[in-house]
Amino acid sequence: MADTNVESNPLLQDFEFPPYDAIEAKHVHPGMHALLRKLESDLQELERTVKPSWPKLVEPLEKIVDRLDVVWGIIKHLKNVKDTAELRAAIKEVQTDKVNFQLRLGQSKPIYNAFKALQESPNWKMLSDAQKRIVQKQIKEAVLNGVALEDGKREEFNKIKQELEKLSKRFDENVLDATKKFEKLITDEKDIEGLPTTTLALAAQMAVSKGHGDATAEDGPWVITLDAPCYNSIMRHAQNRDLREEIYRAYVTRASSGDMNNTLIIDQILKLRMERAKLLGYNNYAKVSMATKMATIDKAEELLEKLRVASWDAAVQDMDDLKDFAKNQGAKESDEMSHWDIDFWSERLRESKYDINEIEAADGLTPVWNNDVKFYRVKDSSENAIAYFYFDPYSRPSEKRGGAWMDEVVARSCVLSRDGASARLPIAHMVCNLAPPVGNELSLMTFREVQIVFHEFGHALQHMLTKQDEGLVAGTKGIEDDAKELPSQFMENWCYRRDTLMGIAKHYETGESLPEDVYRKLLAAKTFRAGSLSLRQIRYASVDLELHTKYIPGGSESVYDVDRRVCEKTQVIPPLPEDRILCNFPHIFSAGYTAGYYSYKWAEVLSADAFSAFEDAGLNDIKSGWQAVKEIGQNSEIRFLLSEVEKLHYRSSLNFEDMSLHLTHYSGITAFYQLQHNAVS
Ligand SMILES: [Zn+2]
Repeated sequence: MADTNVESNPLLQDFEFPPYDAIEAKHVHPGMHALLRKLESDLQELERTVKPSWPKLVEPLEKIVDRLDVVWGIIKHLKNVKDTAELRAAIKEVQTDKVNFQLRLGQSKPIYNAFKALQESPNWKMLSDAQKRIVQKQIKEAVLNGVALEDGKREEFNKIKQELEKLSKRFDENVLDATKKFEKLITDEKDIEGLPTTTLALAAQMAVSKGHGDATAEDGPWVITLDAPCYNSIMRHAQNRDLREEIYRAYVTRASSGDMNNTLIIDQILKLRMERAKLLGYNNYAKVSMATKMATIDKAEELLEKLRVASWDAAVQDMDDLKDFAKNQGAKESDEMSHWDIDFWSERLRESKYDINEIEAADGLTPVWNNDVKFYRVKDSSENAIAYFYFDPYSRPSEKRGGAWMDEVVARSCVLSRDGASARLPIAHMVCNLAPPVGNELSLMTFREVQIVFHEFGHALQHMLTKQDEGLVAGTKGIEDDAKELPSQFMENWCYRRDTLMGIAKHYETGESLPEDVYRKLLAAKTFRAGSLSLRQIRYASVDLELHTKYIPGGSESVYDVDRRVCEKTQVIPPLPEDRILCNFPHIFSAGYTAGYYSYKWAEVLSADAFSAFEDAGLNDIKSGWQAVKEIGQNSEIRFLLSEVEKLHYRSSLNFEDMSLHLTHYSGITAFYQLQHNAVS
């Protein structure tokens, strides 16, 4: 039921922080409609009065863009973390109008012409780098948004855009629904042998929520699901091979059949993207995507191929090691290792080599984290607030989508100052799907989970620590998509730093620091199976590029054929014939990584460079624990690094060599190959 009282609609209030406790599905439809009406009249006013100057063009434009971004961002966020049927229906109702408005804004000729006039005017020279960046970006985006298309073609373009939005939404819903739909009740304790108590507790808690009121971790029954904490634990620890196989098959075929089948949606998405590219004068969609990135298709392919070659032998060796190990353990499957054996035996091999099963005590940041969403204020050394962030740590399979991400709530901006004097401060969302605490137990994080938190915090830092007051390019805004994973992967490096890890990893009962020998083993395990893991990302990146360059929707090859062909060069054992992992791969079909999954590898090279710059600066000499991070923070080195990165992006015709040279005086490729080399030796 829609609540039509616009005055009291929380989405429309002037808020510093979104009133998350008050916003409900019923506010979406009336709120968005009132907002779009208001923005449409603001846009008409801007088009009527626009001049090629900052106050008459960019400032009013930023206000319009920001208002829509902030309100729609809240709605999108709620859908990601608190999905309900009512919210889905409400979004569906307003989606077309929202996209229409965005198209109308993106294709506004008066605005486009004013930006071009500004670029050609004598005032151009007076603009700051950031301002020039905004102008160039606006012009480029307007063209990609179809501003220059003739009327008939523009109509077609807009129809495609509307259709694509709907398809992406359907794609995501199918993944979530298919994941939610699967559950397996286990009553025989033979079937759960090997599973850690945390997983059993989680599975018992799930059983209770499904009506098995007396379920306990020790005696069951247990309900197994496909959400990440449960799935990963089964793959790594369940001794029952049949159970692993069943769960694996369910996992890689999610959203590939019945009324949740994403196969046709994928083909339709690829077809429409191709049509959209052609309307814009490009012969494939990858070229549209690359128009706003650092890389070119050739450069991205070249990087992937170099990394593939560098990783292949190591991955073959990984597999041989695994087979030998399993054989020595008397495993029947040692000669016919299958997909559901790899994680399991890797984990056993890791334990035998490094004697750590992931590292339970790395429950680093617990003192300030809670079972629920937390809100933080970030202050500088003079105790002034500089940013805020929300942290939503735990998995909630019934309503929250999988994965981990950082999103902007609002960006730093002078134009949108709240007191008319100082810039509005940035606010971020950090969302993860960590294993939740069960009963009275704390949630203990695996080392990988600690890395994920550091990764997302890297994105959040880039958003929050910006000093840029121009809202349209502050923080992560306006950064090329293939450079966005730089600060995030940069932050992951800290997890391996002795002082950092020792500072946060305490035993959850005794409070003792991580034992030195465990730390050493952890370091030794850093490169464990690095070749195989690298190939996995290269598989996805290569499939993504190929689907957006050469693939012909409805042609002789299916998307799965392409995947299988790519796997011949990137996977040591071929995927199952029924593998439909593409059906639940939102990165390239519904999130922003279209023809851009290679960005993880691209930015990994950059981040390796950036981190070696820190190491060169003598990081090892600095005192222990968080103190080290704090001092560097106070020395503004992290801020310096990020602002350098930010500055680089204001220069046009930026290229990859440019960036890595600027940051470290090393070649990024060389630094990365050293890492790869270490992985082998
Ligand atoms: Zn990331």
